[in-house]
Amino acid sequence: MKAVLLMLTQAVPSIPWAPHDTTRPLPPVIHPAPAPAGPIAPPGDAVVLFSGADLSAWASAKDSGAAGWRLVDGAMEVVPGTGDIETRQAFGDCQLHVEWMTPPRKGNDQEPGNSGVFLMSHYEVQVLDSYENRTYADGMAGAVYGQYPPLANASRPPLEWQTYDIVFRRPRFDAQGRVLTPALVTIMYNGVLVQDHVALTGPTAHMRRPPYEAHPDRQPLKLQDHGQKVRFRSIWIRDLEAP
Ligand code: MG
Repeated sequence: MKAVLLMLTQAVPSIPWAPHDTTRPLPPVIHPAPAPAGPIAPPGDAVVLFSGADLSAWASAKDSGAAGWRLVDGAMEVVPGTGDIETRQAFGDCQLHVEWMTPPRKGNDQEPGNSGVFLMSHYEVQVLDSYENRTYADGMAGAVYGQYPPLANASRPPLEWQTYDIVFRRPRFDAQGRVLTPALVTIMYNGVLVQDHVALTGPTAHMRRPPYEAHPDRQPLKLQDHGQKVRFRSIWIRDLEAP
């Protein structure tokens, strides 16, 4: 029995860089293929979370009331100050497709086009205008924020659509709340592999890496209001734990 348990468990990694270390190497710039002509349609078994029509799949993350973001040109746009939004449905293991676009460049570093895709509301894949905009490596577009820089900077310029295709495996906890398996994530950014099955250290935070805290097997997907008018379109998810 003990041997079986050992096989099923996986250590939570530690990362030999401080969070947001500005000396951590930046990845190479890779020019991705041109942006797709239109939104990428979901496969037949996907749960459509946003198709351009309405925000019915979303709620305010603050109070579960109506999402405060606005619909514009077949997209939804962050209305700064209205707060994060989250899906009304909850998910665990998933394949997720998200298209996003940052507004005209304003500011630099962590400011332009900052938003985020929070898997299970806990684990942030950073959204940022990272096209010729230098910031710390673990805070770029395609980064697991504060943990893993992307393997490449495959950013398109602002005002062009960008795509994330994410495969996520939720963390597993035992009955005592100890981690059996950390969260695992693989990310394609504009068709380029930027995270290759990385094991997360715990939930996302700023300037620190807090340990895991046990949470339900399903949690909403959350999108971040970081004060920037980032747009999203064609968001769909395949539930990898569907019975
Ligand atoms: Mg962010």
